[in-house]
Amino acid sequence: MKAGDQVSALTVLATATDEPDYGLDINLWDDSPSDWGRQYGFGNQPFGNPNLSYSSQAPFHMGFMHESRLLYLAAPFIKRTFPLLRSHQYSTLASLAFRTGHAYWGWRFAGLSLHYLQDLTQPYHAALAPGESTVKLLTANALAMAGATGMKDDLVLLLSNRHLVLEKYQTESLLKAAGNKQDTALEKALRNSEKDRNYPEWNDRYLRDVVSAQASQSASALVQNLLSVMPPTYVADPGFDFGVKEAGITLLNELPKRDTPERMRLDANLTELMGNFGAHSRNALRGILRASNPP
Ligand SMILES: [Zn+2]
Repeated sequence: MKAGDQVSALTVLATATDEPDYGLDINLWDDSPSDWGRQYGFGNQPFGNPNLSYSSQAPFHMGFMHESRLLYLAAPFIKRTFPLLRSHQYSTLASLAFRTGHAYWGWRFAGLSLHYLQDLTQPYHAALAPGESTVKLLTANALAMAGATGMKDDLVLLLSNRHLVLEKYQTESLLKAAGNKQDTALEKALRNSEKDRNYPEWNDRYLRDVVSAQASQSASALVQNLLSVMPPTYVADPGFDFGVKEAGITLLNELPKRDTPERMRLDANLTELMGNFGAHSRNALRGILRASNPP
């Protein structure tokens, strides 16, 4: 693009939905290795390693709002997440921009806002430990507090690996379909607007009560299917760090054929997730546009 070129509103919106992963939310904590962290008042990083820059954005892009009461008692830091704040911040900026005649910034801020909603449609962003029992998590946490961190470290790595494997499988599937100009079940689910009416109108609790509740409820069934399809090294071996190796891996080349029952179940999960992603994105956008009309 050159300065002054015209672009469609959809292009501005879609491009901006990716933007919060490019560094906006990195090192914003009091204990971040940055000069600016302390200015925001977010306190110390609630979880993750403050020295790994990408892990410092996790509490802005994940929200654990539907865990057991015991878990909140044992690990209160998991309550300190900020995707609702970010979503609200950018959606109200979008409405302000639209109301005051800045359509470009309206679509751009709307896209930024949608990023946080779309992240929360991913079960690994909406649930602390999909498929793992509260007892196991409490045990790992108690052992870690007593100095034996092995069980917790293994769990953190397995969860990170499964999170990344799911997203890689989804990305590869979508890109392959796009490359072949195929309209697969995933694309159809993404744009199926019939589904939008199954949910309440956009409101201040939608992200918590609808989007993240749905994603966290679907988490354990999804994990079972993920584990039954993906190579065990990638999803069940705490000695393997998928995040470090993933650039050299193409999952689609390593999986059983598409028509095995396990693969079909996983693909059905993915289609469901894409359907939610599309419906909630459109419902949020309707809410933003409604709030943008001057009285
Ligand atoms: Zn994100």
